[in-house]
Amino acid sequence: MKNSGTHKDSAFDCAGLGHWKNQGITEESWNDYKWQLKNRITNLKELEKHINLTADERSGVILSGEKLALSITPYFLNLISPDDPYCPIRRQVIPNIEEITASPEEMTDPCGEDSHMPVPGLVHRYPDRVLFLVTDRCASYCRYCTRSRVVSGAGDQEFETNYEAAFEYLESNHSIRDVLLSGGDPLLFSDSKLESILKRLRSIKHIEFIRIGTRIPIFLPQRITPELCSMLKKYHPLWISVHSNHPRELTTEVASALNMLADAGIPLGNQSVLLKGVNDNVLTMKTLVHKLLQCRVRPYYLYQCDLISGSAHLRTSASKGIEIIEGLRGHTTGYAVPQFVIDAPGGGGKVPINPDYVVERDDSKLVIRNYEGKLFIYPEPEIPVISPLEPSAMMRE
Ligand SMILES: *Cc1c(COP(=O)(O)O)cnc(C)c1O
Ligand code: SF4
Repeated sequence: MKNSGTHKDSAFDCAGLGHWKNQGITEESWNDYKWQLKNRITNLKELEKHINLTADERSGVILSGEKLALSITPYFLNLISPDDPYCPIRRQVIPNIEEITASPEEMTDPCGEDSHMPVPGLVHRYPDRVLFLVTDRCASYCRYCTRSRVVSGAGDQEFETNYEAAFEYLESNHSIRDVLLSGGDPLLFSDSKLESILKRLRSIKHIEFIRIGTRIPIFLPQRITPELCSMLKKYHPLWISVHSNHPRELTTEVASALNMLADAGIPLGNQSVLLKGVNDNVLTMKTLVHKLLQCRVRPYYLYQCDLISGSAHLRTSASKGIEIIEGLRGHTTGYAVPQFVIDAPGGGGKVPINPDYVVERDDSKLVIRNYEGKLFIYPEPEIPVISPLEPSAMMRE
């Protein structure tokens, strides 16, 4: 079949040990998340053992120590094509010298989070929910991270969170019914540390809904253990949003981690960031969302890349995002279509950006366009006009 929307990346491949096997690494070590964390690639010398770097990447790695640290788990490193500078996995985690060029429109805090913190670490932007930044560490670091001002500890700004003040704020604000734990990556905490946070949140009666934003299932699927899952399931309703951008990130290892979470009754969503040279085309995104559904993960958001300082080489136009949504909506399962959003620069929150399916609209009708471009008319119901000068208006007919 030609052009059926399938793709070589549509198969669940095993990342496996690869050439690490020749270095005497056992399967047991490889599958142990502690081994993976301890053996992360964090410097040029280590990275060059595995990847053929370009000059721009080499300079990027040297300078990354002052901005956002370099860190890649051995597992995730194995997904990178060592000789292909355009590898979509590589662009996400290997620093590039282009990161030090800041465009005038870029910011260190593009979503205006710091100015919306009633207590350190708690972003309260929306009326009924908060974002709780519990840590500044991740298993690997994404070069476009919207919180690179604090994440990884390499930049100038110190990460600050005050658990006790945050819990007290949550306890005294009865309008908050939804807490989103993020960071950094909350699943980097030990089971017991994470449990102490969940337990405390669950002791607050008005908090109905808890969710965790994490990229650990993608960067470090070994961390998703039966022990972690049985701890998490005690705190339902608990939802998890993972973060994957390219179908090649969904390996058999990741699929089995996601299955364990889903089997623990945790509804799973995915957030993707639209990135130039990574996932800025319909076929890649379609392959990704189909694989996500197979793992029982519902694509949730597709983010226009935030105006984070030094991200110009990874950003593309919002029109590209709209084009991707148009290429999905109607063409595939509705569950597979994420909401495309722009997090408004400066702190306006997430704004949905949709293709124009309403071609024309007035009081009497809507002219709408379907996924094939065909036009249809939907007549609006006639609303009786009630005029105080004409009390009998409603009585007519
Ligand atoms: C994204 C975000 C949330 C959660 O938004 P949802 O649309 O409910 O997923 C909450 N607070 C902040 C500050 C956020 O950035
Ligand atoms: S996992 Fe999330 S918080 Fe961590 S570097 Fe990537 S985008 Fe930033």
